[in-house]
Amino acid sequence: MKTLPSPDCAEWLLAFDFDGTLSSPEMTPPVPDEFFKIIRELRDSHHTLWGINTGRSLLHTVEGMQQADFPFLPDYIIGREREIYTPNNYGRWLPVKEWNKQCDKAHVKLFRKHKRLLKSLREWVEAETSADWGLQADEPAGMVASSLEEMDAIVAKIDQETVDTEHLCYQRNAIYLRFSHENYHKGSALAEVGRLMGVSSERTFAIGDSYNDLDMLDTSIAGYLACPANACDEVKSLIADCGGYVASADAGLGTVEALSAIFSTSQKNTDGGN
Ligand SMILES: [Mg+2]
Repeated sequence: MKTLPSPDCAEWLLAFDFDGTLSSPEMTPPVPDEFFKIIRELRDSHHTLWGINTGRSLLHTVEGMQQADFPFLPDYIIGREREIYTPNNYGRWLPVKEWNKQCDKAHVKLFRKHKRLLKSLREWVEAETSADWGLQADEPAGMVASSLEEMDAIVAKIDQETVDTEHLCYQRNAIYLRFSHENYHKGSALAEVGRLMGVSSERTFAIGDSYNDLDMLDTSIAGYLACPANACDEVKSLIADCGGYVASADAGLGTVEALSAIFSTSQKNTDGGN
């Protein structure tokens, strides 16, 4: 599988969270056909590049795209909220080396520095909650809770314990949590994609539904913001407060609705303003 033919000069950058935004297991197909139709149209009418900005690892994202039967590849993937990958001419995903190396290095240093604190948080989580520490084999600091309420309590504890902790933050997506460096998140990674692809933040669109999307749902990162109807309350109020588009449909259909509203696809070659 390949990407759509590249535009001569990219003018817009689109960023989509995957789970709950582009894709929903409750829908058949999980990513609606209309999404791929509008992406093709926007490639021609607005010279857009598009990608997935997700908490999933690269491998898990590729699996998700296969399950959702993508007809063509995105132009980039941001995995684990921070690592950037682009496809080569054969559709093979390659890391953006400079950024990913810098990101890895910062995390190794961060986790080494806060080893003791992470150990004590792990002990507390394992003794006091039924959350599982460790998202993946190569994930030194993350967990999955048994319920949203349990994750609310874990987050409250982490906030209390890390008030003065330098550079350590976390990305939460419903019952999932991953510790990370404050400089590497969906927002900074998307800004880097914009820099690499030569598209300004004013011409960047981002849509997401959960806490780990908050860093990219920022007007300094993307001039056009949206969320689907199923977004968590914090995301919905943020989008409403900054004049973004809160869709009335869930997940992929909400994403199509937001793209249609923002880019007014019936009027070709407009500047995309609404
Ligand atoms: Mg999501």
